[in-house]
Amino acid sequence: MKKQFIIIGLGRFGSSICKELFKLGHDVMAIDSSPERVDSMRNFSSHAAVANATDEASLRELGVRNFEHAVVAIGENMQTSVLCTLMLKEIGVPLVWVKAKDVQHQMILEKVGADRVIQPENEMGIRIAHHMDSEKVVDY
Ligand code: ATP
Repeated sequence: MKKQFIIIGLGRFGSSICKELFKLGHDVMAIDSSPERVDSMRNFSSHAAVANATDEASLRELGVRNFEHAVVAIGENMQTSVLCTLMLKEIGVPLVWVKAKDVQHQMILEKVGADRVIQPENEMGIRIAHHMDSEKVVDY
């Protein structure tokens, strides 16, 4: 079933989620404050817009409240990601998943209502370790 997603922050993490969801046939709105990043995602999203993730009026104007699932993929600037998460929850986006850079960032995000907090490097490290532990790995 086709779903509606917003991806805010088009670095390596956000852009790969955006491209993959779009490839899977979903409606994806891509948002970043950098016009270059937004341009690079035009062919890999349904809509791409330049906006400041902490500007509530811009987020409302873009119609974020009509989306069921948002990803905030701004890892480096904790203040920006926390503010954006808070606004998306205030506006009423049902599911807000957020990238965190460390445990402190994760704890704050959980306090402001993030539905899922992701630390990509940690999660990928754990997955790779399990993969290496599995019997399916061929020993070269
Ligand atoms: P990566 O996924 O590449 O590891 P990262 O987690 O290190 O990225 P940043 O590089 O800080 O995160 O930011 C990711 C994206 O978010 C960048 O493309 C940046 O332009 C965008 N971004 C940063 N601040 C804002 C903002 N206030 N509004 C919208 N986009 C922003």
